[in-house]
Amino acid sequence: MPLARRSKERLRSLKLEYNMTEHCNYGCNECSHFSPYMRRGESSVESFERDLSALARVLTVYRFRFVGGEPLLNKQLVEHVRLVRESGIADEIQACTNGALLDRTPDEAIAALDTLTISWYPDPRVDQSLIDRTIERCRRLNTKVGVLKIDKFRRMQVVRPFESSRLVQEIFDTCEIAHLWYCQTFYEGRFYLCSRPIFTSRFLGKLDENVEDFRETDGIALHEPNLVDRLEALLHRKEPLGSCRYCLGTVGKEVPWRQLSPSERKHPVRYNDKNDELIDQHKMRRLRIKRHFPLRSMLLMAPESLSGLAARFSRSLSRD
Ligand code: SF4
Ligand code: SF4
Repeated sequence: MPLARRSKERLRSLKLEYNMTEHCNYGCNECSHFSPYMRRGESSVESFERDLSALARVLTVYRFRFVGGEPLLNKQLVEHVRLVRESGIADEIQACTNGALLDRTPDEAIAALDTLTISWYPDPRVDQSLIDRTIERCRRLNTKVGVLKIDKFRRMQVVRPFESSRLVQEIFDTCEIAHLWYCQTFYEGRFYLCSRPIFTSRFLGKLDENVEDFRETDGIALHEPNLVDRLEALLHRKEPLGSCRYCLGTVGKEVPWRQLSPSERKHPVRYNDKNDELIDQHKMRRLRIKRHFPLRSMLLMAPESLSGLAARFSRSLSRD
């Protein structure tokens, strides 16, 4: 099922994400954005504004979601939210945080958002009283808030590429990040089906695995002609991305959430497991079936009011 529907020169999809920071104040194992391994890096307002205005000419979404790294580390969050609001690209603006910096985040930033989502990990930096204070503050500032407790992640990282093209295709076809949670994103002039192409080559470089730069090969340029056609083709794409050869999508086995040590962040661990052994076969079987009944994608093809409903009920959970 395609990720967007087209009418004339515009596309409509459910969600769009943006990486406010590459780095994070947490260092979670299996972070889907590779943030623990990234040097300090932030979105600049100028590059964001330029990319957003190109996209807003051809795409609208129900929800625009700021992610990271940790989005609250970027001091220009309010400015970014204002630009999204003015662009008219989204009906609703959300930020997803690990919560640790909430007490230091000004009211102005919280009030600018429509929704704040807290991924609550078992980490001492966030406790029940911080959650309660935030819920109260959001109520006062008229910002919706959601709290999601997370104590497990799924394995995503593989160092050696999958050799079986059939398996890569299955991982791509069943990937909830790309096809169910609508984690499409853009960054520094290019648009992607998921955030992995932005970071995979850099992560593998840390392990002395030299691969092509997936930022170039897996994304499309935002500032070249015929954007709407190229965007539509990407959102209807049936073949896996280059990055998918190094990714378990959403069928990796579950592992307990934990914080990586500083040395693990500097020198990522090479696991000895064979790639095939990292797959949760039961989840893959379930997703194969689910893929044929894509309720939310079907709603997306329905009138505007229903596509909003679909997004509201979506478990739009990509890790912050
Ligand atoms: S999962 Fe979220 S909180 Fe954890 S390192 Fe990644 S971006 Fe940071
Ligand atoms: S790289 Fe491929 S499998 Fe991994 S999240 Fe992106 S689309 Fe899914």
